[in-house]
Amino acid sequence: MKYFTSLLLCYGLVACSQNAGTEKIVDETATLPLVDEVMTIERQTEMTFEDVINDLKKGNARFTKNHMFQRNNVAQLEYLETGQHPKAVVLSCIDSRVPVEEVFDQGVGDLFVIRVAGNIDNDHNLGSLEYGCKVSGAKLIVVLGHENCGAIKSAVKGVDMGNITELLSHVKPVLDKHQDFEGERSVDNHDFLELITKDNALMTLDDIRNYSEILNQMEQEGRIKLIAAYFDMNTGVVSWLDEKDNPMHDQ
Ligand SMILES: [Zn+2]
Repeated sequence: MKYFTSLLLCYGLVACSQNAGTEKIVDETATLPLVDEVMTIERQTEMTFEDVINDLKKGNARFTKNHMFQRNNVAQLEYLETGQHPKAVVLSCIDSRVPVEEVFDQGVGDLFVIRVAGNIDNDHNLGSLEYGCKVSGAKLIVVLGHENCGAIKSAVKGVDMGNITELLSHVKPVLDKHQDFEGERSVDNHDFLELITKDNALMTLDDIRNYSEILNQMEQEGRIKLIAAYFDMNTGVVSWLDEKDNPMHDQ
């Protein structure tokens, strides 16, 4: 571990010497903590889902400020070689512009991440979610939708192509729900896309509750929490979607 720390210090010196006039940037980097702690069974047990939520909020704030933790990845992997105890499971779209661990400034061993276009629910996802929470002890499930989602746009357009058709059929109930939307129901209407995207994430939450007895019961017992969120492409900010009992809904 000392070797790795030295390596980073060397890198800092090199960066400083190679970039005259960037002292401010280097100074800011120097204040960042080098994280080598990992999620252990003790930490996971101690954390409530409220703690996890606050942790993700702080991580997203660091992401948006370009002030993310530096991590000793090699040392963390050594600690975690024989086991993992992640704090949350994130069900996200596959979009390359939504790098989930970075969006929440999380590292090795912190999150389970499930990625599928349109962050939809299906049988395999449910199995993964149940594994993450029931078997591995994660305390929080986040369904993360995002701005400018290609899957949502394709659903709005009614794309019919190969296996994509079945995938997009998961979004159809949300489109049906907003049949009477006042305004242009097209991909050119940002407000409409945002409405469908957010409602799609909330519908995925409902599906998880409806189709997973295990997760529904765990949530009823207060052992886990399910929440939906929306990633803003312009700012990188994750907003937490309105659900009357959503503890994230204070932003
Ligand atoms: Zn997407």
